[in-house]
Amino acid sequence: MDPKRVYNFNAGPAALPLEVMKKAQEEFLDYHGMGYGIVEASHRSKAFEEVNDAAEANLRKLLNIGPDYAVLFLQGGGSLQFAMVPMNLAVPGKKACYADTGEWSLKAIKEAKLFADVEVVYDGRHYEYKRIGDCTEWDVPQDAAYFYICSNNTVHGTQYHFFPETGDVPLIADMSSDFCSRRFDVNKFGLIFAGAQKNVGPAGLTVVIVRKDLLKRTPASLTTMLRYSTFADSKSLYNTPPVFGIYMFRLVTDWLLASGGIEAIEKINNVKSHNLYERLDLSIFYKGTVEPADRSKMNVCYRLPEEALEEKFVKEAKAAGLDGLKGHRAVGGIRASLYNAVPLAAVSSLIDFMTDFEEKNG
Ligand SMILES: *Cc1c(COP(=O)(O)O)cnc(C)c1O
Repeated sequence: MDPKRVYNFNAGPAALPLEVMKKAQEEFLDYHGMGYGIVEASHRSKAFEEVNDAAEANLRKLLNIGPDYAVLFLQGGGSLQFAMVPMNLAVPGKKACYADTGEWSLKAIKEAKLFADVEVVYDGRHYEYKRIGDCTEWDVPQDAAYFYICSNNTVHGTQYHFFPETGDVPLIADMSSDFCSRRFDVNKFGLIFAGAQKNVGPAGLTVVIVRKDLLKRTPASLTTMLRYSTFADSKSLYNTPPVFGIYMFRLVTDWLLASGGIEAIEKINNVKSHNLYERLDLSIFYKGTVEPADRSKMNVCYRLPEEALEEKFVKEAKAAGLDGLKGHRAVGGIRASLYNAVPLAAVSSLIDFMTDFEEKNG
């Protein structure tokens, strides 16, 4: 590892693969002999067109996305999708159904209420968002416009380990914080979106995968820049796209493909989270905050016996080269985000630090 770099456990923006960072650095001033960087190139240039096409092709390959789905590169973050989903996919007279599993789904529900008749099918507030439970038992009306979930709850540290069966009701998922971290069947979903900055690139790019037949739902009155079809019809080049984000996303997906694809990264992610949860469960000093069955493999949340000790833990971990471990301000405690680019060695190093810290403070 580069001696200037530390292990980065930030929740987002977050760690990117070192190989990708080096490659971007290498070509930053002179992209493939052009004499200037890709971020200085026209988005209509051959060079960028090749990047844009490769980014989409890589994702299609990684996730096995069929021709009946469009892949879009948008801006506005995950948060704009909270509004774009109901603006484009709500159906007058039908319910827009949501599962509330934490901070990010609650924000999505708030936006949806501006455009749709919302029904909250699962209200995780009853469990302080510490569990998801058996989502196959949820009662989703068969005439709903769509059913919306957040696959990984970045703030609280819960994750769906299987998805609800919704029949003909399109399943919509905010996968911002576990996108490309594990295998799943795209065909189960009507629309998937992800802000790039957790697992697949820098902030500024939002990836959307949408089943093409759903694009017909968008009301004629909706403004051009908020319509999915605008971007589906133009290879996401209706206006200037987030060129740097798409370029970095291309490098990250190149890296994923070269490392064996989603199956290979999933195996490593399983080992990382398993080792850390095993360490948590080994003592009463550290206490995982969510129900074991619903634990996230991306964001591992835990508490120490006192807040003062948590502060000390974060501070000393940082001094030991383990950065970004402070929990989200809404829940406190410790949060270790173990995205794709966080190596197994980082987790081993954190576990050693935890053992050492417990010995001194337990
Ligand atoms: C970070 C995050 C968001 C918000 O993303 P922005 O790009 O900041 O709008 C939405 N959903 C989930 C699950 C997230 O982790």
